[in-house]
Amino acid sequence: MKTSIIGFPRVGESRELKFATERYFRKEITADELEATGKELRNKHWQLLVDQGIDFIPSGDFSFFDTTLDTAILLNIVPTKYQALKLTPLETYFALARGYQGEEGDVTALAMKKWFNTNYHYMVPEIEDDTELKLVGDQIFRSFDEAKEAGIITRPTILGPFTLLKLATYQGSKRAGDFYEAAILAYAQIFEKLSERDCEWLQIDEPALVLDLSPIEVKQFKALYQKLLAKKGNLNIVAQTYFGDVRDAYQELVELPFDGIGLDFIEGRKTLSLLETYGFPKDKLLFAGIINGKNIWKNNYQQTLALLKKIKPFGEVVLNTSCSLLHVPFTLDNESTLSKDVKDHFAFAVEKLAELNDLKKIMADNDGNQVFLRENRALFDQERFSKNEQVAKRIKALTEKDFVRLPALMKRAVVQKDKLKLPILPTTTIGSFPQTKEVKQNRAKFKKGEISEYEYKVFNQAKIAECIAFQEEIGLDVLVHGEFERNDMVEYFGESLDGYLFTEKAWVQSYGTRCVKPPIIWGDISRSKPITVAYSKYAQTLTEKPMKGMLTGPVTILNWSFPREDISLRESTLQLALAIQEEVLDLEANGIGIIQIDEAALREKLPLRKSDWHSEYLDWAIPAFRLVHSKVQPTTQIHTHMCYSEFADIIQDIDNMDADVISFEASRSNLDILDALKAIDFQTQVGPGVYDIHSPRVPSVKEIEATIHNILKKLPIEKVWVNPDCGLKTRGVPETQASLKNLTLAAKKVRGGV
Ligand code: GLN
Ligand code: ZN
Repeated sequence: MKTSIIGFPRVGESRELKFATERYFRKEITADELEATGKELRNKHWQLLVDQGIDFIPSGDFSFFDTTLDTAILLNIVPTKYQALKLTPLETYFALARGYQGEEGDVTALAMKKWFNTNYHYMVPEIEDDTELKLVGDQIFRSFDEAKEAGIITRPTILGPFTLLKLATYQGSKRAGDFYEAAILAYAQIFEKLSERDCEWLQIDEPALVLDLSPIEVKQFKALYQKLLAKKGNLNIVAQTYFGDVRDAYQELVELPFDGIGLDFIEGRKTLSLLETYGFPKDKLLFAGIINGKNIWKNNYQQTLALLKKIKPFGEVVLNTSCSLLHVPFTLDNESTLSKDVKDHFAFAVEKLAELNDLKKIMADNDGNQVFLRENRALFDQERFSKNEQVAKRIKALTEKDFVRLPALMKRAVVQKDKLKLPILPTTTIGSFPQTKEVKQNRAKFKKGEISEYEYKVFNQAKIAECIAFQEEIGLDVLVHGEFERNDMVEYFGESLDGYLFTEKAWVQSYGTRCVKPPIIWGDISRSKPITVAYSKYAQTLTEKPMKGMLTGPVTILNWSFPREDISLRESTLQLALAIQEEVLDLEANGIGIIQIDEAALREKLPLRKSDWHSEYLDWAIPAFRLVHSKVQPTTQIHTHMCYSEFADIIQDIDNMDADVISFEASRSNLDILDALKAIDFQTQVGPGVYDIHSPRVPSVKEIEATIHNILKKLPIEKVWVNPDCGLKTRGVPETQASLKNLTLAAKKVRGGV
């Protein structure tokens, strides 16, 4: 059996690409120097794959920002406003990725969206009616040539036309189907040019095939590829899918004259049964995604071998990852603080290559008795430590009642109104205030042991006092302490929870130059000590106004961590929910009467297929949130916050979280969501963000007033709160202060007018 991977983490072992790109943005290095770093990384990674014995080595998976954007540019999908800037190709590329403001003009970036069910974000191609889709770039050929020069024959990868045109947005009246003919010509030209270079294989990614597809879309897919594959000549083409199974298009897919089909056996729950039901053509290679490209856990060889035994009769199998390794950290080698016992359980990208190689060797050897198989078996036979019987008992004892807060929302609203005595259109913020250089330095110094815990806290307390004084001065109604003590929304909580592990270098690309370092859920979760109580309590002593406690919710903590696989996501989330519940009750007992439980990432792990939304996710995610707050007093007001506004389709579920107040991002989406709120008579009080915090721009009082009036056209005034879109941690101090001043003034003006 041969081995293959779909893609590799291009950002580099030490995030070299990120740092070089940022230096280029700051004009500290030239475009040539940036290109040189790219070349170095590509070559290093190819060599690594060769050394690890991988047979099919991808090229074209490298990108300076995003591969979807690369494909769009290769095919001339560049809106007129960017072309009009007359910049160099690399500058145009970054103008599309990040926007451009300079001598040549002023344009915003393309929209960015989450890549399927991952935390990676792609740039959304924008197609205009007069976009001329045609092959204009040469990156895919250059990287093939570059590898060939180094003596390595790669398999170029490219995003396929079906997925590309499905993910694109259309500015005019034309739609995807109107561009199929042009796409066929352009991709056929790519085939031709690769064949000229003696390229043997091309990988065409069509992940959109794992989505819910209508019969019409399946027909379109089939027609598109019937025409396109007629032009493939001698080139071998593998259609690569990932992030699920292709149940809506399986038969059409395997009947098309592809030379290989890549299927996901990890997330594709039905992949095996599709093979068993419909068979698999003998003349094609079956690229079997059996190594998980998303998790950080070692593969269980015994299980995988059992699976392979079932797959093998269907055809010639190539051992593959389930998706690109882009979604996992580079290597375990640089983790110095984790013990060997712990590290033994992990496999990051480089280690996953070794797993493919191990499995290849095991499969080649009939007695199946290799050392690695034995070692791997021993690891999985081992009893996992960190079991917490107490937690298991608590979860077992949960009943319906634990998930229901009483009295009902409307009754609570009355007692809370009575107690809090807030004006109509109460104003508040989402929690964080600017994380200035000094704030970050204070934390860094403390972490390095350069200052004492006492000094560290005194600094934070001074910042809190300053932050409260400002909020009082401008007249906000519900105050926050500012979150100066937090590095991020998850790690900060994880540090006070038993069961969490933290890495040093395990970065994963989130978008462009941004990487995240998700903590790892290693064992059963429990709260080892109060987390936010001291700072919130201190903050409340400084003001007569209500101080809002600030927590991250269980679903978001889970979604931004690497989860366990030996227990269900539901179980882990319930463990987290019980831990956060303790924190909620602690805050309440310490006089904090308003508590915000952020679920910024609740929508992120919504399954790709609608039929799975409830059974696989919402049916436990929403109750887990309710569990966190179900035991508070009727007078305690629970807020939640979400970082997106695309929840029209799950709006009833959001209402069922039974928070008293929800704030969400809204200003960038023209408050579209308000109609959906109105349509279901949304019960929870709402604070749709009245200005965009992703930009340093200061909104005027007039603008915010107009936004509030727009909101009031759709929602009853007694249910509306006034707040920014999200936390202010990434903003500077001057613009934050100016914007919030305008926000409170606008709210006062509207109040005065009603
Ligand atoms: N309370 C958090 C903050 O203000 C919420 C952040 C988020 O929604 N991502 O920073
Ligand atoms: Zn947010």
